[in-house]
Amino acid sequence: MIERTVYQCEYCMAHKARPKVLFSKYRMRQHEEQCFYNPKNRTCCTCIYNDYMGEYGGIIQANNCIYPGINMYPSSLPKIQCVFWKNKKEDKP
Ligand SMILES: [Zn+2]
Repeated sequence: MIERTVYQCEYCMAHKARPKVLFSKYRMRQHEEQCFYNPKNRTCCTCIYNDYMGEYGGIIQANNCIYPGINMYPSSLPKIQCVFWKNKKEDKP
């Protein structure tokens, strides 16, 4: 039996049933840098104005921005570095 160490994405963990797991610490750092759930990336996935999250073919879809005047194309990839982004977590106690 061989024991291995795996690295889990700290951002996906709270949101996904199967968070990203990798053997490589380096590659996990790369993933976390661009993870849709990393609040630093200001994506729909962590935004208070998005009220739909889905998945199609393993790809995250976030396509209902309720910010006034914003209309996203249905079944869109989450927006990244959105200027209207507001952290969903800040409104929770
Ligand atoms: Zn992740």
